[in-house]
Amino acid sequence: MDDQQPYCGGAGCGGILMALALLVVASGGLAYRLGTHWPYRVLRPYAPGVILHHTATGASAEGKPVDAAAIDQSHHRRGWGISDGHQTYHIGYHFLILPDGTVQPGRPEWMPGAHTSGHNRYLGVCLVGNFSSKANPDGGMQPDRPTIAQLDALDKLLGELMRRHGFSADEIYGHSEFGATECPGDRFDIDRVRKRLGGRVQHD
Ligand SMILES: [Zn+2]
Repeated sequence: MDDQQPYCGGAGCGGILMALALLVVASGGLAYRLGTHWPYRVLRPYAPGVILHHTATGASAEGKPVDAAAIDQSHHRRGWGISDGHQTYHIGYHFLILPDGTVQPGRPEWMPGAHTSGHNRYLGVCLVGNFSSKANPDGGMQPDRPTIAQLDALDKLLGELMRRHGFSADEIYGHSEFGATECPGDRFDIDRVRKRLGGRVQHD
């Protein structure tokens, strides 16, 4: 039958095919840029809150400063790691705060953490020091309580994270609230952190 129309012909159909092809190429490019965990990144960008930790060390250990690079190596040895397709992050925390108040990035915020069993959708923020009076009774490891600089940096960071992820100060926890651990130590008063940050709830 020579009057039968082909299923797909003419400019209209070609245009749709071209648009589909462009869509596939564009989404492929987006997925490449976002890495192999792109569905997680796109669909679950917000963390429900923050869990605070201490490193349970002094400012340095074995003659080397305890910083994000050292913790990355240490967590690498424990077999932890997650890749975004371009880089592998071993450090289980999202942020580390040094005794002088320097905030170092750990793994990206959109990645699940490796810091609190069963609660790794929460962001993990860790302060360098050993704040447990049981594990560090005579202050042999310093700092033995969060420094003023650490607390100032922490408040600023938490304010930003609360705004960015839309959680309240009630969603700030210490590690020991989720399991049998000394972390982050009894000299790190999480209630005071929550009180300081309370009333700052804001959504973008
Ligand atoms: Zn911890």
